[in-house]
Amino acid sequence: MKGILALLALVVAASSLENFSGQQVLRIFPSDEAQVNLVRALEDEEYLQLDFWTSPSRVLLPIDIRVPLHHLQSVKVYLESNSIQYSIMIHDVQNLLDEEQRDMRRNRASEDGRSTNSFNYAAYHTFDEINAFIDNLVSENPNLVSKIQIGSSYEGRPLNVLKFSTGPNRPAFWIDTGIHSREWVTQASAVWFAKKIVTDFGKDPSLTNTLNQMDILIEIVTNPDGFVYTHKSDRMWRKTRSPNSGSLCVGTDPNRNWDAGFGGPGSSSNPCTETYRGRAAHSEPEVKAIVDFVKSHGNIKGFVSIHSYSQMLLFPYGYTNTRVPDHDELNAVSKKAITALASLYGTAYTYGSIISTIYQASGGTIDWTYNQGIKHSYSFELRDTGRYGFALPANQIIPTAEETWLALTILIEHTRDNLY
Ligand SMILES: [Zn+2]
Repeated sequence: MKGILALLALVVAASSLENFSGQQVLRIFPSDEAQVNLVRALEDEEYLQLDFWTSPSRVLLPIDIRVPLHHLQSVKVYLESNSIQYSIMIHDVQNLLDEEQRDMRRNRASEDGRSTNSFNYAAYHTFDEINAFIDNLVSENPNLVSKIQIGSSYEGRPLNVLKFSTGPNRPAFWIDTGIHSREWVTQASAVWFAKKIVTDFGKDPSLTNTLNQMDILIEIVTNPDGFVYTHKSDRMWRKTRSPNSGSLCVGTDPNRNWDAGFGGPGSSSNPCTETYRGRAAHSEPEVKAIVDFVKSHGNIKGFVSIHSYSQMLLFPYGYTNTRVPDHDELNAVSKKAITALASLYGTAYTYGSIISTIYQASGGTIDWTYNQGIKHSYSFELRDTGRYGFALPANQIIPTAEETWLALTILIEHTRDNLY
């Protein structure tokens, strides 16, 4: 009986998950601005239910779009009739997600949930599992690590920040991951960073030196409602889960919701798009909690917001072509950081200001933090460049975290050695 109930629960859980069978991700190569605009026009055709994994860009980057099975043919015909080149990047999205589920089940069997030593860092985890990890890390390292709850999500989940600190009233370096919930390699990498810090403190001279001068703050699950939704309902959910009055579409893009060029180009006023900016700046409690925390802290000197995918290290601005006054310094530090990153596995990153490297985006996190006076504001787009996109296999978590940590170390050390 118990077995049958367990099986039934599994079937129910599986059937409530959105299925992506037969869906493909097309990689589109626009050759000029006119073709970019033709692809962008597809975004407004809501009935097509296209999911833009990367956005149309003035700098003619490839555009990756997940296309539902029943619209595949018409989208391909549209592209071909407009002589727009494309390739099929992922032949069946569900195949990748089935593999991901098998991996998660297999890896979960190796953990007991009681210690960060038995935690499987090469696996994706649920919100509850990550919270258990956080609590274990704090209880195992009471003199170094504490947990701060900076607020609650729209659905009432805690917004937890790990604080690594060896003394009071220190300047701080902030790292957040998972503000876009489907970017699973980012939350998984932050878990690895957290364990790396407690392991290396007292052994690695540079990290020890850093923590003797500065705190490190890590918000692992920055969009918990979205994250839970990616596990239980729709693996490809990006936004928050707050409702929008007058629309059936749910959620706001929390990386278009900040008060930095809010409402400008590269953000949408349509609640049904992936880049919906929200009804007002800081309307999302997940964003407002960070805004309030940054302001009340008053001494955050470095701020890194981590996304995936595309392999880029970016700095402000995204909302305007105006160069930040610190452009040359941020550019030089970025170059050094991606060089360190590539030294481990040869992973190639591009870098530069958001608007010149990727596309114009208004209301983004690090434009706001930079304008708050946090000079060292950066954003990563982690692995890969599109082979798997958001469905990056779990066996790439640790290599991704390791190489990213090398780049983060450059950013943290530069901030530490140039406290202003
Ligand atoms: Zn993102």
